[in-house]
Order: sequence, then structure tokens, then C-alpha cells
Amino acid sequence: MKKILVMEDEANIRSFVVINLKRSGYEPIEASTGEEAMAQIQTNPDICMALLDVMLPDIDGFEVCRRIRATGSKMGIIMLSAKSQEIDKVTGLMMGADDYVTKPFSPAELTARVDALYRRLNPEESDNSGVEITSGPFVLNVRNRTLEKNGTRLKLTQIEYLLMKLFMENPGKAMSREEILHAVWGYDFAGELKTVDVNMRRLRIKIEKDPTDPEYLTTVWGYGYKWGY
Ligand code: CA
Repeated sequence: MKKILVMEDEANIRSFVVINLKRSGYEPIEASTGEEAMAQIQTNPDICMALLDVMLPDIDGFEVCRRIRATGSKMGIIMLSAKSQEIDKVTGLMMGADDYVTKPFSPAELTARVDALYRRLNPEESDNSGVEITSGPFVLNVRNRTLEKNGTRLKLTQIEYLLMKLFMENPGKAMSREEILHAVWGYDFAGELKTVDVNMRRLRIKIEKDPTDPEYLTTVWGYGYKWGY
């Protein structure tokens, strides 16, 4: 498991971060103070990354960062700060932080930075680049045409696989039914646009927790669909 320490004293920000990390396949370990963070690191030596809030009630995030590095740890460290002052960034990097994210941040921004740092720290896991497409809890393997969600293989038809590939290759892009039909079934397919809806409904049942309230394959009203993750 990819354990990440989330040190943040504000409970609502912490849970927001935790939810988004879990969705991206990480295992967050929570701490609300610097002391708690150091204790968590001791009990979880396999923590591979830490998100450290700068402003804390006890010791500040820079000091926690310094203490982590003082143990000889090479874990990835991203500082989280409400301040956007350049001085904070410099201090953080001087204390051994790898990256810096300024609040408020979007879930997409945070997970992109976390994923990027994780890849940098684990280049051997990137050997599958080009073979695997990863998005949140999903891993699509284009070599053996399989889809996994949180490590569990999902059984897809070839059409469903092609739909998943199309969406995962175009995250956040609204795609019309015509576009989907052409991309998956081909230009000479004489079927109706309804074909898309029928297959999307079936695909949602397989990949969504609640197909009636999809989290990933979202509807773009009056247009088509989007990989909304
Ligand atoms: Ca804080």
C-alpha cells in the first residue's frame, strides 16, 4: 500500500485531503499535530510520503520536515501552506521538502502533485508507462486489455473496454454521443446514439459504486459523457 502521512490540524481540510488520496489509491495516515505526525512515522515505517501543513498548534510544519529528514528518511515531502509567500517555499525546500502546494488547492491539483512525486520516487513502477493508464482507483492495461479497480479485475466486454480506454485517455473532456460512437464503434457503424447510452449504463453498473449517481462516468446533460474523475 502507498501510505501517505497527512498532517493537518484543520479537520475539514484533512478529511478533504484524505478522501481524495483514498480515491487515488493511497492509504492516508492522519495526524493533527506535529507530535502526532512524528509518532505516526515511528509506528508506520512504510510511509512513503508526507503532506505537511505549515501552520500547526504545536511545532510548525517546517520543523516536522526537518525532524523527518534528520532521521535519514528519504520519504517524499510536500508542504501545504495557506501562505503564498515565496519565503515559505524557500524555507520548506531548505528543510528538505520536495514540493509545495498553496491552499486553497483543488483535489485535481493535489493528487496530480502527489502522483508526480510518487512517480519520481518510484521510477521502477513507471516501467508500465504506455502499457497502463491509471486514473484514480482504475488501472487499464492496454496490452492485455484489462481493467482493475483498487486492484480487483473487472470483467468487461470489448466494447466496454474500448469505452473505458477512450474515457481514461481523455480525463475531464466532455465527449458527445457522436464522438463516442465514432471512436468506439467506428464511422461506418449504422447504430443509433442510444447504443452509447445503453452501453454506458452497463459500464456504470460495473465500475461505479452507485450507478445512479456516478462518480467517474458522469453525464454532460444534453451532450454526452465525461470521465469526471
Ligand atoms: Ca493549519
